[in-house]
Parts: sequence; structure tokens; C-alpha cells
Amino acid sequence: MSELMKQPCSECGGSLRRQSIEKEFGREGVKVKLSGVKAWVCSKCGEIYFEPGGADKLAAAVECLFDLAIVENQHRGHLSASVT
Ligand SMILES: [Zn+2]
Repeated sequence: MSELMKQPCSECGGSLRRQSIEKEFGREGVKVKLSGVKAWVCSKCGEIYFEPGGADKLAAAVECLFDLAIVENQHRGHLSASVT
């Protein structure tokens, strides 16, 4: 990954740091969680930035998890995926 984020946070001007994030998504009673995903996080306001295309890939991964949860009939279940 390149050090693309030299500029400060566009929300508050805080500095961005590269770190693993954990994000939970819910839909129709199904919860999925992604953890270990690397992103740029503002040290002041917590705004999350992804590399170009990263947000789209994350959204696609979340869609897959929801599909899996529904296919496997894990309604009201909890599915998580992590990147190591
Ligand atoms: Zn900020």
C-alpha cells in the first residue's frame, strides 16, 4: 500500500493514521462484522478513509457476507470475517 494519505482529514484537519478497523453492518436482523481491515483513520474525529477503490471492495465483501448469512439461514445470527 502506498502512503497516499499525506493530506489531513477533510472533516476536521486532523492527521490520518493507518490502522486496522473493525466495522459492523446490520440488515434485516442479520449482523456481519469485518475486522482487521486496514484504513486511514483520523486521530481527532475518527473519520475513516480508504485507499481508492477500497470502499467499493469493502462494500462488495459485506454484500457477500450478507448473502452467505441469508443462504445459510443465519438470520439473527452473527457473521464475522477478518483479514490477517
Ligand atoms: Zn478528522
